[in-house]
Amino acid sequence: MKYLFTLALLFCSSLTSHIAQAQPAEKTTKSPTLIHSLQGYSINNHADTGAPVVSEFSTVVIDNGRFIAVGNETLAKVYPKATMVDAKGQMMLPGLIDAHGHLLNLGLNMLRVDLRGTPSLKDALSSIKDYAKANPELDWIVGRGWNQVLWPTKQFPTAADLDQVESKRPIMLNRVDGHAAWVNSIALELAGIDDNTPDPAGGIIQRDANGKATGILIDNAMELVKAVRPAINEATMTKAMTLAQQRLLSEGITSMHDAGITAAEYHLYKKLAQQNALSVKIYAMLNSEMPELESIVKQGKVSMPHLTIRSVKGVADGALGSRGAALIEDYSDKKGHKGLLMLPKKRLDYLNQFLSQHGFQLNVHAIGDQANNTVLDSFEDQLTAEQRNNLRPRIEHAQVVQLSDIPRFKQLGVIASMQPVHATSDMNMAGDRVGEERLQGAYAWRAYLSQGTIMASGSDFPVELSNPWHGLYAAVTRQNQQQQPKQGWRPQDKMTLMEALRSFTLDAAYAGFMEKEMGSIEVGKQADFILLEQNIFKQSVQTLWNTKVAQTWLDGKLVYSREK
Ligand SMILES: [Zn+2]
Repeated sequence: MKYLFTLALLFCSSLTSHIAQAQPAEKTTKSPTLIHSLQGYSINNHADTGAPVVSEFSTVVIDNGRFIAVGNETLAKVYPKATMVDAKGQMMLPGLIDAHGHLLNLGLNMLRVDLRGTPSLKDALSSIKDYAKANPELDWIVGRGWNQVLWPTKQFPTAADLDQVESKRPIMLNRVDGHAAWVNSIALELAGIDDNTPDPAGGIIQRDANGKATGILIDNAMELVKAVRPAINEATMTKAMTLAQQRLLSEGITSMHDAGITAAEYHLYKKLAQQNALSVKIYAMLNSEMPELESIVKQGKVSMPHLTIRSVKGVADGALGSRGAALIEDYSDKKGHKGLLMLPKKRLDYLNQFLSQHGFQLNVHAIGDQANNTVLDSFEDQLTAEQRNNLRPRIEHAQVVQLSDIPRFKQLGVIASMQPVHATSDMNMAGDRVGEERLQGAYAWRAYLSQGTIMASGSDFPVELSNPWHGLYAAVTRQNQQQQPKQGWRPQDKMTLMEALRSFTLDAAYAGFMEKEMGSIEVGKQADFILLEQNIFKQSVQTLWNTKVAQTWLDGKLVYSREK
């Protein structure tokens, strides 16, 4: 489909608004709610052509959790007995959908030491020290978010640094991208890692010139320490997930795609759905390498209130920051190094075969051009065109892709699941890792959009903040929040605000087989929407990241209201 609409078109008089969707007579079932005096917008699919159409409206009517009418103020006459809500001119948009996040980790991070954005090793160490002191009951100090690239030295930290802060309890701190861990000496000892421990498959134990483990573990080497960490119990998981969902609702997210869950999360999600305890609509992907994968998939798709499970997430490679992403040629800043392919083609082929038999979608994390190429090959040679059409395979991230592979997303009907904030977080590092030439196919949103590839956006929280307004801002400006670089980084790949919103609503819904239920404000759809005090179409895009959500509604019920 084509993205014909730009922001300018929104205000163009020839725009066809869908304002005539009112039902002819009032339904007699329940008492509906009518919200009027709105500046309402939604990006819908054209009924015949499927092309995106911007709809503008000022009134909606909701009954039994769904929109039963979308139109203008005359609807008040059609529904005289409805409960009237005056929106006082606020902007209404569909609830936002984050197509790639990690709910439990977001919640656990809210409970753990958070090192995101720390400007130096010294600051990181002092945060860890404060946290350790404030949480004397914890057996392990666990946290996440450090990024040595932001530090003046740009050097990886060491176990010795951490030993100065805490020498009695083990510490494990994941890098911001989740693909490296920084641990102290006790953690190394508990995991049995010494100078003679070989690197595990798909992982690296970083060592100094004398062969001594430094305390940095990359990709699969992280598992050695994870394996000796006590498991989190269900009560902690539930607490973390509840906190995370409240955060999402406050930011305007009504649905999220959980990109890789364990068997424990699978069972907990089902239990929470049964208890009607999911406050955000969850589309969860099973982790492809969990031992229980086959048995869970064979139990069939899960379709419960606020919970859908019919997909699997694989991780084909690592990340660029830690040079774990699998590249075809050497890293530009590390000769002889091409990163790591964590899922070989044979394994991908098996997953495609097995999952297609059970009607499950396969969504594969692929960051480097080698990983993307291998995953595309597997989708191409293991699935028929009809299977791809039905199963909607996705590549998660698609960060660095050979130019010759980009058209294959369209040819094969592969969804590109992108995280706009990654582009602005990585802009100072990506060029170092892959060089100018390969950047042409990096974070190349325009190429995907102009060929008509469905692009679903997300944040990859908690790798990045969950706030979707940061993603929308990064998508349309390709700038950081200090408005740098001036024209945006590789500005040719900016999205329009319409395209960005569509990728966070209807196209994200499509990526989770939900486009008939959510993602736009149309008659018959679930009444998931947000109200904003300001109209983001009528203000500078520079303030977009700072947008505050006034209210969030789910299934026609108010579930979040901003304190004033
Ligand atoms: Zn992720």
